[in-house]
Amino acid sequence: MRTIFLVIIAMTLNVFNAFADEVNLENCINHIDIINKSAESRLEFERLEKLTEEFIKSNKITEDKEYIIPVVFHVFGTDFAGKEVNLDIIKSALNHTNNDFNGLNKDYETSDPNFDEVKSKLKIKFELAKIDPDGNPTNGVTFHDPVAGLANDNSNINAIVSNVSWDNFSYMNVFITLDLFGDGVENQSGFAYYPNNSMSNSGLARVVYNGRYLLGNTNDKFASVLTHEFGHWLNLFHTFTGGCTYPNDYVDDTPPVDKAYMGCPAINCENNPINAENFMDYNSQCYSMFTSGQIDRMKAALEFDSRKTLWQEDNLIKVGLDVNNSVDLYENDVVVFPNPVTNGEFNINNYNNNLIIDEISLYDMLGNNIASYKSVNLLKTIDVSKLESGVYVVRMNSNYGIITKKLLIQKK
Ligand SMILES: [Zn+2]
Repeated sequence: MRTIFLVIIAMTLNVFNAFADEVNLENCINHIDIINKSAESRLEFERLEKLTEEFIKSNKITEDKEYIIPVVFHVFGTDFAGKEVNLDIIKSALNHTNNDFNGLNKDYETSDPNFDEVKSKLKIKFELAKIDPDGNPTNGVTFHDPVAGLANDNSNINAIVSNVSWDNFSYMNVFITLDLFGDGVENQSGFAYYPNNSMSNSGLARVVYNGRYLLGNTNDKFASVLTHEFGHWLNLFHTFTGGCTYPNDYVDDTPPVDKAYMGCPAINCENNPINAENFMDYNSQCYSMFTSGQIDRMKAALEFDSRKTLWQEDNLIKVGLDVNNSVDLYENDVVVFPNPVTNGEFNINNYNNNLIIDEISLYDMLGNNIASYKSVNLLKTIDVSKLESGVYVVRMNSNYGIITKKLLIQKK
């Protein structure tokens, strides 16, 4: 089946401290062109806009709702214009983007006061998954040989992407590469696909990002281009989308902007200040805020079929990110038996496939560590025939935290 994918957005900026680089915007596809690409893509766009409008009008938006989005990074290559991409870089980049969304970025409080009334934040945490689709522990990062053009929509690239992707309804997939479009240009920073059910069904929903522009490999401000791409992934258009013609960027409280400006202060087509610091403009060097209209639009997108499953409790448990219910919920899934121990050995059985126990330690009541064992998740038998009678504590380190059980040893 050939599917026609909706809106594609490219962000192709040069780096602030490398003005010699060409500012390459040819690949920044106008979303209106893409929407008009086919009847199918137009229908999908209209369907999602209708859902967005209905959701915003429905008063279902709550201030305090917090979202956790499981993320996997697929890193293609080892050399990103002389920069490396490793787990630490990815963690710091993700943390930086989380700060941006939550208004914890350092320029949030000091942004242009003209926009104080509409400035807003989204309580969302993009977090590396801890369990992979096969149920195995993971650090949320996979590594692959270099591939150019991962942002493209063609059969070769789609085959690679869908093969590597983890279930799009359980994980947000971020692809790290150097040459986004396979055209030899290595300074295109990022690219994202809007929410789209058929893409998620095909394993093609994604953000594609240049490894050289992750925090640690670029400056603090330019690293927020990742935030910009995540904004697209949550259905935000550029603030200059649609120019000065209603409905512009489909957000009411962002001023109309006739084009992408490359300097921070600017006046719009109506002679009013533009929200130059908005993450969805191209002014990466003054990025500091989203507006409340954009936050509402993202919250609506989080209700779309292609996004809603990600932050549901059952999914967070599946991918190892359940924080609300923590370990208490799983204590009863682990059984230590027989208890009391009378024949010199006991067993640990873990009945929960999502609970990964990687270490078991035995302590006496004085807190002395008697023994430690690397765990298996199936039945584990432990020999305690040399221990004295008494009360002991079995301490199990799991992906949800520490589980402890009291154990009584009775010598015959
Ligand atoms: Zn963009």
